[in-house]
Amino acid sequence: MQHGMSYNLILDPSLTLEEQEAVVTGSYAWEKAIPGLTFHYQWSACHGFGDSSHTICIYADQDTPLDDNGYMIDARTIFQHGFLTPSDSPASDSCSIDIHSANMANHGMPYPNVALNVVTHELGHAMTHNSQHIAAGNLMSFCIVKQPEPEVITSADMDYFWSAR
Ligand SMILES: [Zn+2]
Repeated sequence: MQHGMSYNLILDPSLTLEEQEAVVTGSYAWEKAIPGLTFHYQWSACHGFGDSSHTICIYADQDTPLDDNGYMIDARTIFQHGFLTPSDSPASDSCSIDIHSANMANHGMPYPNVALNVVTHELGHAMTHNSQHIAAGNLMSFCIVKQPEPEVITSADMDYFWSAR
């Protein structure tokens, strides 16, 4: 079976209800965009999920990190095993997403939309083990929190997903 077409998505208790909704809505957007992609939800703590295959765990904290240019970092996707390749073992396809709630709330935009854009974007990194970005106007561009409306998954974003498979 092809890698990375079915994921266990673990929602940590640190996520607010609003953030959990962003995870479910954002992952559903990816399911609609990518035929055959499915998520299975699980509510449990991120610590200790270890090397579970095809697993993404999402948690939130109140840290307020800045990047080298002084911009707020809204989230980080942490790969447990480096990049996914077709020859990797299934256990390589796991990672954690750390969302920084305090920074996301600091944009002066509706929180549900910011959370949705950030989570959907990070899922793109998580499912490709790719931290690079593509051109503006796509979900996987560098600065997705530039306007208060929910972003859409474009054909370039779909190419980004398939590029790891
Ligand atoms: Zn990014």
